[in-house]
Amino acid sequence: MNLTAQASPVISAVIPAYNESQGIAETIKQIAGCLNACESAWEIIVVDDGSCDPTYQQICRISEGEPRVKGITLSRNFGKEAAILAGLEHASGQAVIIIDADLQHPPSLIPEMIGKWRSGAQIVHTVKRNRTADSAGKKAAAYCINQLISNLGGINVNNSSDFKLLDREIVDIIVRLLPERERFFRGLTSWLGFSEAYIYFDVADRQGDQSKWSFWALLELSITALTSFTCAPLRIITFLGIATLLLGFLVAGDAIWSLIIGQSVSGYATIVISVLLIGSFIMISLGIIGEYIAKIYEEVKARPHYLIKASIGIGNKKP
Ligand code: UDP
Ligand code: MG
Repeated sequence: MNLTAQASPVISAVIPAYNESQGIAETIKQIAGCLNACESAWEIIVVDDGSCDPTYQQICRISEGEPRVKGITLSRNFGKEAAILAGLEHASGQAVIIIDADLQHPPSLIPEMIGKWRSGAQIVHTVKRNRTADSAGKKAAAYCINQLISNLGGINVNNSSDFKLLDREIVDIIVRLLPERERFFRGLTSWLGFSEAYIYFDVADRQGDQSKWSFWALLELSITALTSFTCAPLRIITFLGIATLLLGFLVAGDAIWSLIIGQSVSGYATIVISVLLIGSFIMISLGIIGEYIAKIYEEVKARPHYLIKASIGIGNKKP
């Protein structure tokens, strides 16, 4: 066995991968090349998030030739957030880099990230300078959601990405002290504080086929992101309620005034409009409250974030 494989790793790279069999070998090769340039004691942990294609078989094949490449395959598709957590829980490096499997996060930034970590940064964020690889719709949706989270939740996630370097202390905090089921990794790392550094990068075109996120998966992530960082939508409901009440007083005042001056009250349109308005306010409000209740329900059930089907090169690290 390779000697460097036995040394405890200084740097771990965690790659969440879902149906990435087409490009995973090239991604691992490029990341390993960049890690080798900085440090020989490294490990790469690829977390196969229940792929339907032979992603895990590819990881096993590579791992047999290079034991510093390790793999975990989850029992089904749990989503990128769970895959990242699985990687963090099994990484043993002093610093952990989280990077996508499709080469949209340039591995060439790794030496700079490690450099910033060595100069004292505990979290190295990478920020997207452009999003030319995304469609106009995705860009607009991402902008609106990031603005909402940043303004209501008070954490800056504008153009942020999951491509980050975390010091061991930060990884331990995320794994041990942030046990929430509904996770938004990008937000959590901004919420933590500590000493942070930023690197700007241009998003490359996606290697391989289409993005692995469906519209519903993105919507779910956005709702999780919003509800896990702010209760502002609940407060907005209260303000909407007060606004509707004021409107009600206004209409009532108008009706009483019309009675006093002897005019007949124009009833039908007013009633229909108020019923529709108030009805829709109530339904939207119930929906928002429902989202928070659903999140509480998920937390109370306290099911594991993910289940591991098999792994290669990994000891039983998870507590
Ligand atoms: N991914 C994952 N599980 C999923 C969806 C995506 O592990 O359910 C991985 C995927 O393999 C990739 C990363 O998350 O490494 C980012 O996914 P993608 O490139 O599809 O997203 P985008 O770049 O469009 O944000
Ligand atoms: Mg991508």
